[in-house]
Amino acid sequence: MVRQPQLRWPIPEKLQQLAGVTIDKVSRRAKYLLLETELGSIVLHLGMSGSLRIQDESLAPTKHDHVDLVLQNGKMLRYNDPRRFGSWLWIDKGESLSLIDNLGPEPLSDEFCVEHIVQLAAKRRIAVKQFIMDNKVVVGVGNIYANESLFNAKIHPLRPANSLSYKEWQWLVEEIKQVLSNAIKQGGTTLNDFEQPDGKPGYFAQKLQVYGKAGQQCLVCKTEISQQMLGQRNTFWCEVCQPKEIV
Ligand SMILES: [Zn+2]
Repeated sequence: MVRQPQLRWPIPEKLQQLAGVTIDKVSRRAKYLLLETELGSIVLHLGMSGSLRIQDESLAPTKHDHVDLVLQNGKMLRYNDPRRFGSWLWIDKGESLSLIDNLGPEPLSDEFCVEHIVQLAAKRRIAVKQFIMDNKVVVGVGNIYANESLFNAKIHPLRPANSLSYKEWQWLVEEIKQVLSNAIKQGGTTLNDFEQPDGKPGYFAQKLQVYGKAGQQCLVCKTEISQQMLGQRNTFWCEVCQPKEIV
């Protein structure tokens, strides 16, 4: 049941009329959730403020409950999204969606490796921080994680992607995987409106080294942490631990 089809993109007719199908598999690609059925897949993105809950089918909707996916067991999957930046899309069986096809590998998968990234970085003069945050290179490296991984790998965020040595890419790939794994273990980051499934706020107990620490002392060398906007994202680094000029 769709109460409000105008999300980031209109919910396709086909999806609105979907009934009597079985969800065979639930998976995730980058920030997209995929509910696979025999006819095709529902592709769901929570946008900025979307959330999903399993509730009793009889529960009356509240203001921003835009979609209910009614299940056979008297429950439903209810989608709430005050800002409506999320999306419910549909792919027919055997079809593809460029939105998903163009995505780089998952950061914690074996496909995200030094060989993959070295090949892509050749001839790319874009800043390494922007490069690793590009979804076509690798998905899931958000701003906090990019800053922290670069610090741990001792690489200056503004260096051109193609200036990194093989060894440096090795460190960086390793640090990206490490920082993300730790964050997952700790339960996510301090996004204002992020909630865990039980409604408690997400928190980031993991100690941040540089992110949000402009003007504070580097935990390694006590130099003041630098800050600059890069591609409209806040960028932090230590001039000493992450030298721009390679010596
Ligand atoms: Zn330092």
